[in-house]
Amino acid sequence: MKNENIIYAMTKKENMEQKGFKTYENDAICVFWRPSMCTHSGKCVMGNNAVFDPLRRPWIDLSQADTKEIAAIIDQCPSKALHYELKEAIRVVFEESKQQAAAYDGEKMTGVRPEYSGLGIALSIAGIRYLVSWYKAIQ
Ligand code: SF4
Repeated sequence: MKNENIIYAMTKKENMEQKGFKTYENDAICVFWRPSMCTHSGKCVMGNNAVFDPLRRPWIDLSQADTKEIAAIIDQCPSKALHYELKEAIRVVFEESKQQAAAYDGEKMTGVRPEYSGLGIALSIAGIRYLVSWYKAIQ
């Protein structure tokens, strides 16, 4: 397990919001949308206009369809303005030997903040507390 694959108390949500994505979430899925990337192809609206309604605020309502359907529609977004993260795919791991907490979101890692490298057990414990409470919240 490489250090660069470890996230300390940083979720993908934070990471995406730093990149200009807006977040819409429920217990099962986090949907990210970056307005500046949207080419207004309407694929999402045509996929399910109860979930994706550009005339409503907020324009994405995740209660209007099941998670699989929402994910399948987002996969069709041609500009990649829409992304999602399945919460059930996130695992929280504590590495005993390194005294480090890590959150894995399935296939890929969201990256590491270089400024976190080299920090000691105090940050690890704070990160673990944060991640455990977050993990419980998504169960
Ligand atoms: S499918 Fe993607 S590019 Fe098309 S309108 Fe929806 S968010 Fe915008």
